[in-house]
Amino acid sequence: MNTFFIEFRDPLFGIIIFFVLIFIITFFSYWLSKFKKREDYRHLDRFLKQFNSPPSQNELKVLITKGELSEKSWLLLAYSYTKNGDFEKSIEIYNELLKVGNKANYRDTLFLLGKTYFKAGFLERSKQIFLEILKSNPRTPQALNYLLLVYEKMKDYDSALEVLEPLDELKKDIRTDSVYLNSMLLLNDTNLSSEIKVNELLKIYKTSNQLAYLIFEYVFRINPKLAWKNFDVSKAELLVDILWHIDKKDLDFDIIMQNSYLKELYSAKGYIDETQKSSVFEFDVLIGLNDSVNATLSFEYICDNCKQISPFAFSRCSICHSIDTSRVELNLVKNYHKDFSEENNSFQ
Ligand SMILES: [Zn+2]
Repeated sequence: MNTFFIEFRDPLFGIIIFFVLIFIITFFSYWLSKFKKREDYRHLDRFLKQFNSPPSQNELKVLITKGELSEKSWLLLAYSYTKNGDFEKSIEIYNELLKVGNKANYRDTLFLLGKTYFKAGFLERSKQIFLEILKSNPRTPQALNYLLLVYEKMKDYDSALEVLEPLDELKKDIRTDSVYLNSMLLLNDTNLSSEIKVNELLKIYKTSNQLAYLIFEYVFRINPKLAWKNFDVSKAELLVDILWHIDKKDLDFDIIMQNSYLKELYSAKGYIDETQKSSVFEFDVLIGLNDSVNATLSFEYICDNCKQISPFAFSRCSICHSIDTSRVELNLVKNYHKDFSEENNSFQ
């Protein structure tokens, strides 16, 4: 029995104690490093978590009131929120800055708030902000421009036209805005017949030589005969998508045969066979293809001012707000409509 026990004076006892101590120390240091690593992860998680969600309204209030960040930093932050489409957060920042910020920047911050309300679609609030700015500073063209845009979005074209007066007094060029707003006023007037609208719009075009797309899109839709009679062939390229989609029965071949661009366009469409090639690449390919190939044109619209591309035609660019700067780009695509109609015919 005694052989299982080692006396503490035995040198073996010392060696065992030594190894036990080494084991305990190794175990604790291992456990300690593991615990520390886990704590580091948790700290990093907590640190990163605060960037995943923006600060709440109350947090923002506290942060802005503390004044640890400069007003410019807050304005930059609000701008980046607006750019990312988080209008709610930027509106909160602007509102807090208006309460506690530097009074010297009050009007500028108010203007930025109005702009953000406009972008977010809160038109009534945006209108109130710009009216407030103009009440104390009536000669602020930026606020007048935005007020005009707000009225236009609200379809209150009479009020928008009224805004042009002070802009004119400030020596701003209002000719295009005036033509555009008067055309929009006509188009949205429910008391006028479409025939009267057509005649009035054609008068506007003849005097201004602007807004060919807006005006002829409507006139071709309502009265194609009158549209061809008043058609400005110099604008054919600008209206290529409208011309492409006109029904064959509504075409005026007397006018088409007198213009090389129109001849190439309708040869590409397959309505006539008057030309074998075209200087426009897309027309040239379509003319060269035989009828069995399912190809057609699709269109997209580029703003000549800011180069923004849109799948829809526009008279006022939604990004830079300039008028009549849309240019049509052609693309060759598969004709799904032809595919669909052939499939339907095969079932009959
Ligand atoms: Zn633009």
